[in-house]
Amino acid sequence: MTGFAGQYYISSIAICLTTLYVYLRRNKEFRLQGIIFILIALTELVAAIGGLFCEVFVLPGFSNLLLAKTGTYLYMTFHTVTSPIFCFYTMIIAGVNKKHTERFFLIFFAPATLNLLLIFQNIFTHNIFYFIEFTYRRSYLMSVLYVISAVYLVAAIYYLVRYHSVIANSTVIVLSGFMLCVCVSVLIQMVFPRILIETFMQSIVVLFILMTIENSSGLYDETTNVYNRRSFLMENLRSLENKVSYKIILLKIMNTRYYTKTFGYRFTQEVMQDIALWLSSISNRNWIYDCQNGIFAIMLYGKNQNHAKEIVDKIYKEFSSDWIIRNISISFQVQVCLARVPHDINSVENLIYLLDLNESKTENRVSIIREEQLRFMQRRTAIENALQKALQTNSLKVYYQPIWDCKADKIHSAEALVRLIDDDLGFIPPDEFIPVAEMNGTIAAIGQFVFEDACNLFATKKLKDIGIQFMEVNLSGVQFMHRSLPGIFASTLEHYKLSAQDVNLEISESAAVNKQETFQQTMKNLRNMKFKFSLDDYGTGYSNASYIFNMDFDIIKIDKTFLWEAEKKESAKIILRNTIRMIKEMGIKVIAEGVETKEQRDFIAGLGCDYCQGYFFCKPVPQEQFIEYVKKYNGIES
Ligand code: C2E
Ligand code: CA
Ligand code: CA
Repeated sequence: MTGFAGQYYISSIAICLTTLYVYLRRNKEFRLQGIIFILIALTELVAAIGGLFCEVFVLPGFSNLLLAKTGTYLYMTFHTVTSPIFCFYTMIIAGVNKKHTERFFLIFFAPATLNLLLIFQNIFTHNIFYFIEFTYRRSYLMSVLYVISAVYLVAAIYYLVRYHSVIANSTVIVLSGFMLCVCVSVLIQMVFPRILIETFMQSIVVLFILMTIENSSGLYDETTNVYNRRSFLMENLRSLENKVSYKIILLKIMNTRYYTKTFGYRFTQEVMQDIALWLSSISNRNWIYDCQNGIFAIMLYGKNQNHAKEIVDKIYKEFSSDWIIRNISISFQVQVCLARVPHDINSVENLIYLLDLNESKTENRVSIIREEQLRFMQRRTAIENALQKALQTNSLKVYYQPIWDCKADKIHSAEALVRLIDDDLGFIPPDEFIPVAEMNGTIAAIGQFVFEDACNLFATKKLKDIGIQFMEVNLSGVQFMHRSLPGIFASTLEHYKLSAQDVNLEISESAAVNKQETFQQTMKNLRNMKFKFSLDDYGTGYSNASYIFNMDFDIIKIDKTFLWEAEKKESAKIILRNTIRMIKEMGIKVIAEGVETKEQRDFIAGLGCDYCQGYFFCKPVPQEQFIEYVKKYNGIES
């Protein structure tokens, strides 16, 4: 044991001091995570100071056994508490700390307490370490300290792995790096006792944590200085994953747009600042989130949930009268919603839905949505479960609705329409479950299921022989965002020995105006594969006609409400007649949807429509019924 090795500790001290300085300058208020981070940095700092003492006070000319020993005790004590604190830090990041009881934590910290007691009793027993002259020696119980620390590291690894889905990737990397550094440095120090690298490496990782996990710049809203929407969703993701029960108060300012339009963006930002400030005066600032577009959220855990009603009442009172900001009197229109998690909201998707839900039909200045009014959220959850069940048990069905050719008076094609019939909820209309499926991602599986069913029917029942030229399959805009879609369709076609010409892909007007690159690219790929496209629900999206025509659709389906309107109103009739003429002049075929009566059929055929679809001919029906109908209509012998 020769030579001075204090440079490692000096570097550690410098790094820890810098970390603490930057962190404390940057943050004024701390959540538990922040406090624990400070604690980690502090323990590293004190351990390094202790380590430095051990090095300095054994040097000739400085030798002082008491100070050297004190340094060793400081180093040991603070070095060993790092791993339990670090493990606790990982728990906070995973959000597990909220679900554990005080008893759990008593047990959790018991081994760490044992470590501290062991170090303390070493003063009398020397069974952990001792000094011969000025030389430090490890004793037989030293390994206990290491084993206990290792147990905490293993626990931390467990939390990281188990909850990796709710932890940001960069966080997982930094924390894994921390653990790796600890293990590597312990090994190095075991083999080369004079390379005192443990504390040094750990302080470097602490600096990394400062720059990544504790870099809060992305967590706050820059204007209102409270946590932002992303933090809100991440926090909920963690708590939902850990099955913690808590409450959320949502405050939605419904008329922010009006103020932005009238007084400008800056002014609205100022208003939002004032609201955030006022909210922090009635609740803890750490619980408040600015979810953008005039939506604020307050999250209440544990005992704080008892304050929920009180806070709602305060909001009600405050927003019932005008606010004066920059001499402008503002009368807010707000909606306050009190939701229980997981009772009313059980997924982040549901939460996003509730956040973005825009029911602005409020007559009162402040309307309160109480817990019981959130039943519709439970319906959404029930639909989500029914969907999952149907996908797992393969119980989705596809019905087919014939499409009639006006000139030939024959059934010419068919639209595939998905059906979900649940044992408990009964028939769930696609208009209700498709948006849910779009949000939770199951739309991809549903879309593929319908596509495959249509291909299967067309190929195996040889529908071409009974007059069906092609199948119409609905595609959701969300499906286009999956780059793999064309490939999957190609292999399905190949499996059934069909060509892309046998299927027409229907896409609604509102989805077709999507200008995103992935969307456009998928569409291009599908076109290159020779798929044809029908524009669905034309006339509902108020889209720019020239944009739509540029997209090169083969068929345009006029929305049913357009036809029904034209039947009642002369002006709508004129618009419809000219729309059909215009589409035909473009060389595009027209289908009229929602033909329910003979009069409607004759009327629309008279306007020059190419094809009709509607209950007058046939409702969407199961395969066998559909084939039977087509054969009968097209005069084909069975
Ligand atoms: P859509 O694509 O406009 O489909 C036509 C809807 O109009 C169908 O409703 C059909 O049953 C209904 N319909 C047809 N003729 C008449 C009529 O004469 N009178 C009336 N009142 N209604 C008629 P459905 O099956 O309830 O589907 C509703 C919507 O759900 C569809 O509208 C489509 O947007 C969506 N959808 C259905 N199946 C799928 C699917 O497989 N994938 C996707 N992405 N969406 C689907
Ligand atoms: Ca359709
Ligand atoms: Ca339609």
